[in-house]
Amino acid sequence: MNCDPHVMNDVAAIERDMVGAARKAEATVINSTFHHFSPYGVSGVVVIQESHLAIHTWPEYGYAAVDVFTCGDMNAWIAFDHLKECFGAKSYSAIEMKRGSVNLLTRNDFDITSAREKAAEWRNPDFYTRNVWFTDKDEDQALSLRFTGDVFFDVQSPFQRVRILESTKYGKMLALDDMVMTTIKDEFHYHEMISHPSLFTLQNAKNVLVIGGGDGGTVREVLRHSNIEKVTMVEIDGEVIKACKEHLPEIAASFDDPRLELIVDDGIAFVKNAPDAIYDLLIVDGSDPVGPAEGLFSVDFYQNCYRTLKADGILVAQGESPKFNEKAFAELNQTLQGIFGKENAPVGLFFVPTYPTGMWSFQYGLKGTADPRKVTNTDAIKSFVAEKGLRYYNEDIHFSTFALPNFVKQLIQQ
Ligand code: SAM
Repeated sequence: MNCDPHVMNDVAAIERDMVGAARKAEATVINSTFHHFSPYGVSGVVVIQESHLAIHTWPEYGYAAVDVFTCGDMNAWIAFDHLKECFGAKSYSAIEMKRGSVNLLTRNDFDITSAREKAAEWRNPDFYTRNVWFTDKDEDQALSLRFTGDVFFDVQSPFQRVRILESTKYGKMLALDDMVMTTIKDEFHYHEMISHPSLFTLQNAKNVLVIGGGDGGTVREVLRHSNIEKVTMVEIDGEVIKACKEHLPEIAASFDDPRLELIVDDGIAFVKNAPDAIYDLLIVDGSDPVGPAEGLFSVDFYQNCYRTLKADGILVAQGESPKFNEKAFAELNQTLQGIFGKENAPVGLFFVPTYPTGMWSFQYGLKGTADPRKVTNTDAIKSFVAEKGLRYYNEDIHFSTFALPNFVKQLIQQ
């Protein structure tokens, strides 16, 4: 009780400490399975040759319920003391219960000693299977990714918790608070689709503003275009940039490009103070509408975005999903329709497997006549895709992204 609430919500730390407790008590670890629930709480079990250790945490109370089941001569109290220390428990209560009294049992002629010796022959005591799960969810649905339990970066910044974890299927990933932001294996879905459709619409964009995008994937794609003269990126959290430069270099690949001006600041304030009509393209690569990114879904912010775009400029915003956070999705489009005009706020859908539901969107604001749905230079797209080796975007996807299912058209009344 009165444990550190952050530790109580840290699946990787709890898995590490529970396995550590078993080992401290000289148990043989067979498997660990741990699950993190968002917004908070961890459940898990460490299967040992001598039985198991199990835990459920309530970070909001600084409370953990731990069961240490042992047989043979393993000392469970050693494991318990280790956990008390790791969790910073200021108080505790414990019950020892003897179970399975031998005199009530009938012994079968099962030679446990040779069985144990046999197991010891093939078992590598250092190896055990790990199932540590990271879950991004709302109250109705979730996306869970198995990860290795290894944490490469974990900093609580003034804005959010910034972590680099390694998922077993999608490789290293950036998580902000408990939301998946980007992974090595599917980031290109997002970063190619947030940038290229508009750049092939504008054809000769020179000056681009990116709000957010701390992982660097969006500016990497924008800077693939030789006509670009200047990209200004305004990211509120320097820890995100640091984490991605160190651990996701494939994504944070263009931070040294001389055309890039990197500013660590609040994008809402930056756009508010930006001059009129200077940007060809304004990309809002922000996180979900909570914490620092809440204001990136406001009418004020988009009115300033409109003002700072050139006459034929385009805005593209991370638009949430019509199947996850659909209220934010629909409200954002109403805001853009209100500012840019009913016909000038198209929605592009695309797939990104590591976002809840996998169906995600970019929402557009078209200030002038430049319209991605009316692009004709498909040959230019084809050769660019081949030359740059793009893996998601192409001349067909460029148009199909704007073909919306009826339920989405109804959701945004378009
Ligand atoms: N692909 C992600 C998604 O769909 O959620 C977004 C990725 S990117 C990492 C989001 C970035 O927006 C984060 O690094 C976050 O720190 C930044 N951000 C949030 N609010 C911001 C603000 N007000 N100004 C500038 N950057 C902001």
